[in-house]
Amino acid sequence: MITAADGAFMARALQLAGRGRGTTAPNPCVGCVLVRDGEVVGEGYHVRAGEPHAERLALAAAGASARGATAYVTLEPCCHTGRTPPCTDALRAASVARVVVALQDPDPRVAGQGIASLEAAGIPVEVGLMAAEAARLNQGFLSRVTRGRPFVKAKVGLSVDGRTALPSGESQWITSPAARADVQRLRAAADAILTGMGTVRHDDPRLTVRAVRARSPLRVVVASDPVFTPGARILQGPGRVLILTVADPGSSKGGVAGDPEIVAVGGSGRRVDLTAGLRALGARGINDLLVEAGPTLLASLLQEGLVDELVLYMAPRFLGNGRPVADFTLPALAEARDWHYSDVRRVGPDLRLTLAPDRSGTPPGWL
Ligand SMILES: [Zn+2]
Repeated sequence: MITAADGAFMARALQLAGRGRGTTAPNPCVGCVLVRDGEVVGEGYHVRAGEPHAERLALAAAGASARGATAYVTLEPCCHTGRTPPCTDALRAASVARVVVALQDPDPRVAGQGIASLEAAGIPVEVGLMAAEAARLNQGFLSRVTRGRPFVKAKVGLSVDGRTALPSGESQWITSPAARADVQRLRAAADAILTGMGTVRHDDPRLTVRAVRARSPLRVVVASDPVFTPGARILQGPGRVLILTVADPGSSKGGVAGDPEIVAVGGSGRRVDLTAGLRALGARGINDLLVEAGPTLLASLLQEGLVDELVLYMAPRFLGNGRPVADFTLPALAEARDWHYSDVRRVGPDLRLTLAPDRSGTPPGWL
């Protein structure tokens, strides 16, 4: 039976799991709290792939106190040997009395078998406490495992009249320093940042994370024609660069400096197949993708239904004529897709609008 105390300990486990955000890919974020006689005796969270899982860290912290304890885990414990041995074995060996799991792991190597193996060992397991929160925390991992592609979040800085640059191309900066600091937080939580060749040519962005101690997400450029100007900043700096293109450019590499990975994903004419591109990123273990693209690429992603969340930073300024958020033309208003605001808040002087697609009738498979 689930009690109010169970909820509080699972909330703590979720809080711990969140500390792994941005570093665990391709693995999920997982937190674990061990409680005996109403007291926390051990805690842990997964930091990065190859390092111990949350359950192992919590058990190590608890030592002999784990015997008879309840384990609160945000995701079903693993029962397979990956880079580390199965957590189900460790929980059994430590003689925990009960396991409470927020969410079953859809990874086919687990998929209920972790729960079944604990139950087979006589350990009662309860599943589903705060499942929605656990799913939100791991929306990238769940997207990759169930759809084969990352969760796609697109970020746009714009004026109150919906412009992202002046006709001259000038766009730095429309939004406030507070909004730009918030974007740094989004980048730090992403496994990869994707942009298009148009943005690389016009804005010459770095797309790096400036925060101290953050690791550098993979920088991805969608380029039908991957020809970079010498010194393009996207190719500089820490972290790897990957270029998604239509066809293999051969040994010439289109004059690309440095050593980016070039992945030919096909397409029609000069349009890169974006669905195949996202699958290529999924195959490389990218759970969470942040898109910072111009109006052409963003229009394609939106029209192909590939954006799972939009984050708009809206500055209280009018720019008049200028670059739109997404460059497409609808034949009729009835053709417009509906979104809904999932969060609205102020960031400094700007508004941050978070939007999710209205997919009434087709909810994401993992929620
Ligand atoms: Zn594990």
